[in-house]
Amino acid sequence: MAKDSPKVLITGASRGIGRAIALRLKEKNHEVIGTATSKLGIESLAKEGVIGIELDLNNKKSIETFNKLLVNEHTDISVLINNAGITRDNIVLRMTDDEWMEVMNVHLNGNFKISKTILKFMLKKRWGRIINITSVSASIGNKGQSNYSAAKSGVEAFSRSLAKEVGSRAITVNSVAPGYIETDMTEGITAEIKKEIINQIPLSRFGRAEEVAELVEFLISEEASYITGQTIHINGGLYM
Ligand code: NAP
Repeated sequence: MAKDSPKVLITGASRGIGRAIALRLKEKNHEVIGTATSKLGIESLAKEGVIGIELDLNNKKSIETFNKLLVNEHTDISVLINNAGITRDNIVLRMTDDEWMEVMNVHLNGNFKISKTILKFMLKKRWGRIINITSVSASIGNKGQSNYSAAKSGVEAFSRSLAKEVGSRAITVNSVAPGYIETDMTEGITAEIKKEIINQIPLSRFGRAEEVAELVEFLISEEASYITGQTIHINGGLYM
């Protein structure tokens, strides 16, 4: 059984979905740590009462420094939201090794490295929640997103295996797979393409970051204790 409002770590909390989750959980009295890649991002989190820490998941040294800080100062974290994300879209024939690796580092490798650190804290407490923000791209694929779809699919498989490893300690591991959500990540989509996408979404709109945050809030609650190893889709019906 968790203490009320357990301490939360959210990667990529400076913008978009991560920020919406951070603000939502802060409002619900959780102590929240959020990461950003820049000082500006950290300052913007601090203004909201969120503890901001710098982390670049594409940089080995940055991850090492971050993990050390967690071990020294934040072993009371018992909820981890692996949310940080990037896209480096290109068709396979033109995709560079860097575009491939950067996406793998931020999503899949980063997830493993941060989860491993936080898991040790959770195992001691015999309670924990890990939520991995994946994507509908993992299930349906997307032209130009072979790197991103593969990384997200990898995270979902990682979540299922981890869920089996730690379930006996009351630690649940789930993936939340959003469809198209209005954030900086989807801002570059042209009006024409957006119209085409919306035509395929039964609810006829993009989702809001706050809607994803509400789902995450439920999944970390005591009421969601019997849900683990799942990928929960939130996509307006785009994929069912
Ligand atoms: P966003 O608005 O672009 O925000 C991305 C966040 O990730 C920012 O906080 C950013 O920090 C952080 N980040 C970027 N590169 C990083 C790195 N190298 N190391 C650590 N953190 C890094 O994206 P979003 O739309 O909220 O996406 C959040 C998650 O949802 C991602 O995993 C994404 O793949 C997933 N998702 C999004 C959608 C969508 O439609 N928006 C759909 C499906 C899944 P800085 O501010 O410092 O750059």
